[in-house]
Amino acid sequence: METRLLLTDDDSLRYAAGLLKEGKVVGIPTETVYGLGANALDVDAVGDIFKAKGRPQDNPLIVHISDISELEALVEDIPPLARKCAESFWPGPLTMIFKKKPIIPDTTSGGLDTVGIRMPSNKYARQIIKFAGVPIAAPSANLSGSPSPTTAMHVFKDMNGRIPAIVDGGMSAVDVESTVISFEGDSIRILRPGFISKEDLAEITDNVVIDKGVLEQLSPDTVVRSPGMKYRHYSPSADVTIIDADAEHFRGYVKEHGDSDTVCLVFNDSDCDETGLRYINYGSDSKQQAQRLFDALRELDEIGAKTAYARCPEKTGVGLAVYNRLLRAAGFQVIKL
Ligand code: AMP
Ligand code: MG
Repeated sequence: METRLLLTDDDSLRYAAGLLKEGKVVGIPTETVYGLGANALDVDAVGDIFKAKGRPQDNPLIVHISDISELEALVEDIPPLARKCAESFWPGPLTMIFKKKPIIPDTTSGGLDTVGIRMPSNKYARQIIKFAGVPIAAPSANLSGSPSPTTAMHVFKDMNGRIPAIVDGGMSAVDVESTVISFEGDSIRILRPGFISKEDLAEITDNVVIDKGVLEQLSPDTVVRSPGMKYRHYSPSADVTIIDADAEHFRGYVKEHGDSDTVCLVFNDSDCDETGLRYINYGSDSKQQAQRLFDALRELDEIGAKTAYARCPEKTGVGLAVYNRLLRAAGFQVIKL
């Protein structure tokens, strides 16, 4: 199969929507990462997403809509808190979990009786969904276990020959996946941290809890609330360790333990001064780090790093999402100095 790269003019978006209507899988831009889209209501189309990605069948897909009015047809009950969240954060990188209506196939929900729904702020994504006239299931458009794609070329690299088309909407703006939340009574539970932070959600209710699976390695027999958390996320070939320390102690540690096969992931160039080690600067604040983390992880592989020491991100705001992803890339290895 030849994979076509499409532009974002109306004709191209209509063409992409036509493919989706026919049950094909198409790479689409969103503000978080590129998605691998298919008609969320079509079992075969959704099955093809799992095939193209090599994704485990019990890892549910997020369903994307273009307008809040499309929500009621898909879910049983919309809690008042969810309406408030939608008012504040949609369109945007927030996925909310609802009890699903039978119209959502079990294949889409990974066998769960719930479904995650999101309205993306990327205007091309919304236009494609509108033109297609169906909700679009879309996980990140990478092979399972590879880093999430933030450009159409990243998608092309993984999906060339597997899907008929990719819409090139330029670089993703946020570059970290959506925040996934569920509702329990009057509380919000963060199942996966993302760009919408705990602090943002605290504007809606005081009752925001972070699920255990976010910061801890769950034992294999735990029933997880967010199935994606149990799968190995992108990890570079390098053995990554997070060093929770200030710049001075970080420098001291890597100078002692690093060698010519080591690459450091730092906030500032000065974090590696005088150590003689190679480094990748992944940004000095959480937003930059969210934007650069996946690229930095890809770069470790391109350089051929054998060990990597990463400065530990802040655990607040969007930093919590950065920390959560890095923690998985590091196989939960953290050294606190
Ligand atoms: P992604 O891999 O970025 O497409 O995100 C999908 C992730 O969202 C899954 O791996 C789950 O962790 C989470 N998710 C999606 N649907 C549900 C659901 N119904 N219940 C709990 N978590 C969900
Ligand atoms: Mg993914």
